Amino acid sequence: MSSGSKEPELARTLKRITWQSENCLACVWFKPNDPLNADLFERGQCIHSKLKPYGLIVSGRDWCNLFTEVKQKQIDLIQERALRHEESEKK
Ligand code: SF4
Repeated sequence: MSSGSKEPELARTLKRITWQSENCLACVWFKPNDPLNADLFERGQCIHSKLKPYGLIVSGRDWCNLFTEVKQKQIDLIQERALRHEESEKK
């Protein structure tokens, strides 16, 4: 096994790559266009009271300093509501 100092430069660099985790997709103020399939590329409105007046359209990978982590329970509620809406439109 090699120590950290003997690793190739590329391997050491890749270990430092991290994904921005506090992004819009994980924010309570993100209103995705498609809540059932939302991923980092999903677009939607930011409904934070300070930003809503600007009518911002953000993507799941955007972020700002007003980030507040969404709870899994809220994601479940939003997805259940979207599913019910989708099913009622099929009828
Ligand atoms: S722009 Fe800021 S407040 Fe709005 S959804 Fe993204 S992280 Fe949240």
